[in-house]
Order: sequence, then C-alpha cells, then structure tokens
Amino acid sequence: MEAIAADFGIKQALEQLGVGILNEGSSTGSNAFSTGEILESYSPVDGHLIGKVKTTTKTDYEKVMTAATEAFKLWRVMPAPQRGDIVRQFGDRLRKNKEALGKLVSYEMGKSYQEGLGEVQEMIDICDFAVGLSRQLHGLTMHSERPGHRMYEQYHPLGVVGVISAFNFPVAVWSWNTALAWVCGDVCIWKPSEKTPLCGIACQNIIAEVLAENNLPEGISCLINGDYRVGEFMTRDTRIPLISATGSTRMGKIVAQEVAGRLGKTLLELGGNNAIIVTPDADIKMTVIGAVFGAVGTAGQRCTSTRRLIIHEAVYEKVKQALVDAYKQLRIGNPLDETNHVGPLIDVDAVDMYKKALSKVKDEGGQVIVNGGVLVGEGYESGCYVKPTIVEAQPDFEIVQHETFAPILYLLKYSGSVESAIAIQNNVVQGLSSAIMTNNLREAERFLSVEGSDCGIANVNIGTSGAEIGGAFGGEKETGGGRESGSDAWKIYMRRQTNTINYTTELPLAQGIKFDL
Ligand code: NAD
Repeated sequence: MEAIAADFGIKQALEQLGVGILNEGSSTGSNAFSTGEILESYSPVDGHLIGKVKTTTKTDYEKVMTAATEAFKLWRVMPAPQRGDIVRQFGDRLRKNKEALGKLVSYEMGKSYQEGLGEVQEMIDICDFAVGLSRQLHGLTMHSERPGHRMYEQYHPLGVVGVISAFNFPVAVWSWNTALAWVCGDVCIWKPSEKTPLCGIACQNIIAEVLAENNLPEGISCLINGDYRVGEFMTRDTRIPLISATGSTRMGKIVAQEVAGRLGKTLLELGGNNAIIVTPDADIKMTVIGAVFGAVGTAGQRCTSTRRLIIHEAVYEKVKQALVDAYKQLRIGNPLDETNHVGPLIDVDAVDMYKKALSKVKDEGGQVIVNGGVLVGEGYESGCYVKPTIVEAQPDFEIVQHETFAPILYLLKYSGSVESAIAIQNNVVQGLSSAIMTNNLREAERFLSVEGSDCGIANVNIGTSGAEIGGAFGGEKETGGGRESGSDAWKIYMRRQTNTINYTTELPLAQGIKFDL
C-alpha cells in the first residue's frame, strides 16, 4: 500500500473521500446503520488491504428501510425540478471529486485510472441528463369518447427502489439508476458489490453531504453492505416495488424469480457475449483499435467487452496478424500508471476462471495465437494479473457460448454473406452488445435490420464497449431485457396512472352502456 499510495496519490484520494485506511474497523457516518461482520476490501492492484466496512444485518436493514420510507414521504411531494436541482448539486460535487473517485475506482476495482475517470464522468453525464429530465416527466392526454370528459395519464414515483450492482462498474451503475429514480421522486437503497464496498461508501459520503446541505434526510439515498444475503433482504421485501440488479446471468435468474414471486418489478442488466463482425469491406485499422480496446479494456471485465470476433475469410489472416502485432504493444501492470494498458482481474477467483476457460478452449480444439498466462514477479504480487490472449475457435465450442470475465478473445471465421456472420453472432444466449465493421452500406443496414443483430446495442464502425449516456442501455435474452440510463428508461422508476375527469352533470358510461336508475 505504502509505495503505491505515495506514488499515485491514493492516500490523499481516500482521505478526500472519507474512506479506507482512515476508518478501518469502523463504519463511516454514511454507513452508520451497519453493525454486522467486517468486510475487508483488498486492492487487486497490489493485494493490500484498503479498508474495512461493516455489513448490514437484518436489524440494521429494518432501520434503513424506516429511514427510506420516511424520506420518501417528503421527497415525493417535492416538485420534480427541485429534485433535479439536488441531482445537479450532486453532479457538481462529483466534478470536484472526479480525480479522487476515479483513483479509488482504479485502486479498488483494478481498471485503468483513465477508465476510472471515465466512469465518474458517466456519473456526471447522467446527472446532467436527469436534471433536464426533471422537467420532462411527461404523460399523454387522450380524447375521451364521452362528451365533457378529459382523459390523461400521469406518472407518480414508485417508492423505495432497490439497486444491486456489480463490481466492474462500482460507481456508475448506481448513478445510472439513482439519478433517474431521484428525479422521478423515488428514494433508493443501494447494495454495491461486496468486492468494491469502499466505492459505495465514497459515493454515499458525497450524496450525504449534498442532502445535508439542503436539509434533506439521508434516507433519500441509503447504503447497505454485504454479499448476496444482504441483497436478498431487498429482493424478498414487498416494500420494494422495483429491484434494479446488475450482475451475472446466474444472479439475475435468482433475483428475477424472487421478485416475480411477489409480483415486484425488476430491471435486469446481466451478462453479455459480445461480438464484432468484420466484413471484407472493413477498415482494418479501425477494426483493430476497436477490437483491442473492447477485448482488453478493463481487463475484459466489461459487460460489453468484445469476446468474439467474427471475421470474413477474405480478411481473416490480415486481421489476425494485425491483432497479434497490436497485442505485442500491450503493457500490463499497475492501472494507476497511465503507461499501462491492462490492469489486474478483480481477484484470484477471476484468475482461476480465466485459467479454466483457457484450458477448456484448448481441450475443445482452440488454437492459441497470442499466449495467455498468469503474471508473477515484481509488480504482480497480488496474483491478479493475466496476459490478454487470443484463441482461434469455432462458434459452437461450449466455452465460446459462455461469458468469461477476462481478456480472452475468440477469433471465428465466416465465409459467404453477412447473413452467415449475423447467424453466428446471434447464436448465443446473451444479447447485450454487438458491432459490425464495414464500409458497405448494405451490410451495415442488414446488420441493423429486423433480421440483423438481436442485441440491445448494435453499433456500426465502433466497437462493442463504451456506451454513452442518452441512449437506453441494456440487452435482450439472458442479458435480462432491462434498459437504463437514457431515452425513456425513466418510466420504469414510475407508476403510470390514467385519469378520466367528468366535468358535466351527466354520468355517461363508456362503450355506450345503458344503466338507468
Ligand atoms: P455477480 O452476479 O456475482 O454479483 C452482482 C451483484 O449481485 C453483487 O452485488 C452481489 O452481491 C449480488 N447478488 C448475487 N447473488 C444475489 C442474490 N441471490 N440476491 C441478491 N443479490 C445477489 O456479478 P459480478 O461478478 O459482480 O459482475 C460481473 C457480471 O455482471 C458479469 O456477468 C457482467 O456481464 C455483469 N454486468 C452486466 C452489466 C450490464 O449492464 N448488462 C453491467 C455490469 C456488469
């Protein structure tokens, strides 16, 4: 810790955010309700303990729920543009803490500092989006079939929204949900990943300050900590009408059934198995940049990471060679050092999964063209650094059908028309992100057509990763079907009410039904 803390300003960042070594063994004000067992957070960057957090017990959870429920009564009647102003202040506060929070994200999760900054920028962007939205929570008006009647719809907040998030976007996903939910008039309870609890506390400290300055209760934004057992407090709680859950498909299936069992709503953002189709008309230089960033960015731990490259046989060898050359340039190491491209995996369990996937693909007949392996020695003491690898494979290999959360890129060759590539791309259970690299308009349009990509995100001449605020984000099939962050995603955080008002002295019935007394 000492060396990295000194060299990269981690200590100052933790101090600024009020987390980490400073509050070892105790909880911060913003985690005040939690009294459970201690959760330790180790950095995958250097293996050092960053801080300890108390987990939330069932008794603590009841206190949190009471605080949230009370806060909702006040928050829901505050005009939406005023709620938007609180979100604006939160965005401003994030701007002030961008570097510190970006560093914490990098140090606790392991993504590059640049990507850490990018994640905080996404939080700022969603705040800006939500501020505008706070004046646009529109419903429709309809013409009634009955004379002297007016019909319209309006949106009311749902209540307490539960947010469960994954380790790989330890701060942004929370804000994608909360910034929208808050302007909609909901209050939120967040359970961050047990692998990145300090990021949760840091965010909570920032919003808590904003709420306190505005004399608003902290119950508007609540934090609970722990693993799936703490998540279950929320999924089983009938007082939570909506659970937004981001994580693995395995988790999503459990959460979906639990919440559906009580007829609650879910917004699910689950695993992906994203592909780029490279056609004979692709710009190879752009393809290589997009594919390499997509495959090795965040060490292959983005839900939108590029896992499969489906390359036409006419350009296959050229693309393969360009990728091999590009991978030679990759520097793997401390993600806070901006000369490195690839940081560590989140923990040693993730390293095990990487190793298992590599051995499986070899067993299935895959040909390794860029060697993988676990790095050891100076700078790699955490045991979490692995080499990005490229394997030639077949689309129907069992392992290729799975999302392995690591920098493993499968090259798949296709021949014939773009339809065959689209068929390969769609032939997996996940449906998050997809892309085509082509300068051929017909191929691009075919890819985007109803017979094209079946994913929630389909890009032309950019890679699969790196979504921006504004578009609705999410995917189909086993990715869960949720949409968040942009477009009309706000509607899931509200309940729709249809209102019919009669301003006459008659009471005509709909459909002309006669009922005379
Ligand atoms: P994970 O499924 O292990 O955990 C995610 C969260 O769910 C954690 O907070 C965990 O504690 C909680 N959880 C797990 N089981 C639960 C249960 N039964 N009840 C309630 N909560 C439960 O995922 P992870 O390893 O943290 O993240 C990686 C996964 O997340 C990948 O599959 C990735 O694709 C996916 N992901 C998807 C998106 C998206 O937008 N589609 C974004 C980020 C990550």
